[in-house]
Amino acid sequence: MNLHRLTLLFIKDNQVDAAEDTSCRAINLSLDGPTLSQLYEYHHNLGHISHHRGDMEAAIDHHKTSLEISRSPNSQVNQAGILACLVGLLLEAEKFDDAQVHLEHLKLQAVNDPGHLGIAMVAQAVIWYRQKKLEEARSELSRTIGFYAKIGISPDYVGSLKEFLQEIEEEINRRAVSDS
Ligand SMILES: [Zn+2]
Repeated sequence: MNLHRLTLLFIKDNQVDAAEDTSCRAINLSLDGPTLSQLYEYHHNLGHISHHRGDMEAAIDHHKTSLEISRSPNSQVNQAGILACLVGLLLEAEKFDDAQVHLEHLKLQAVNDPGHLGIAMVAQAVIWYRQKKLEEARSELSRTIGFYAKIGISPDYVGSLKEFLQEIEEEINRRAVSDS
């Protein structure tokens, strides 16, 4: 079994210490030193282990290191995946300015990648919502729902986006009432 997959399984089963150990072994196994993609996976795995442990700073740092590695000239790694992860963590940590910076990179990487483009649109709506830019959040989220309807994503997911949209609209209405 691929060591990276094994690590992910360990994380899923909450066997965090075992996962960390496997991550280290995945690096030590290569005799000529780790390849770029092994280093990338190593930090990415540690990022998720840190997240699982509730250490957001370490989770974000490891993801940023992975991102740097994926930007090396010889790297074959797709940056959209790590950017989407990093943006999600920064949103969770409520670091909206930093999230916005990486989100701009994600949008550029995801131009021809509907899956990651959708994630970028949702993340943008969340940032604007949390920054109280309700009108912007509403229009971005409506656009996202239309986009997902077109590419045919799971109805459950679209349903939860619609609930979020409704929440934003209610808040806009409450604001209008309290302003009048
Ligand atoms: Zn990740």
